Amino acid sequence: MSDARRLAEKLGLDVFKPGKQPHIRIRPGQENDPRLGRAIPLCPAGLYSRDDQGRVALTVDGCLECGTCRVVCGTEVLEWAYPEGGCGVQFRFG
Ligand code: SF4
Repeated sequence: MSDARRLAEKLGLDVFKPGKQPHIRIRPGQENDPRLGRAIPLCPAGLYSRDDQGRVALTVDGCLECGTCRVVCGTEVLEWAYPEGGCGVQFRFG
């Protein structure tokens, strides 16, 4: 079994409870900032990608709350907060 598959299986054990609002958002007007692209290869949950028009897209379901995107992109382009109480990731180690 490959390391990538093993990682995907372990991440699959985690449980995510979405909040009413996404806890991480691209700031309005910053959608084309090149700093956003830094998170694509670095987000451990693979939540950043490029859409058909080459813009960075973000889905927060599955976020591990590690803060990597906050550090590499910066708070000038990302609004970053922990999920509201009772929401977010629940880690389960297998
Ligand atoms: S906090 Fe971590 S897991 Fe969540 S979106 Fe940012 S880099 Fe990905």
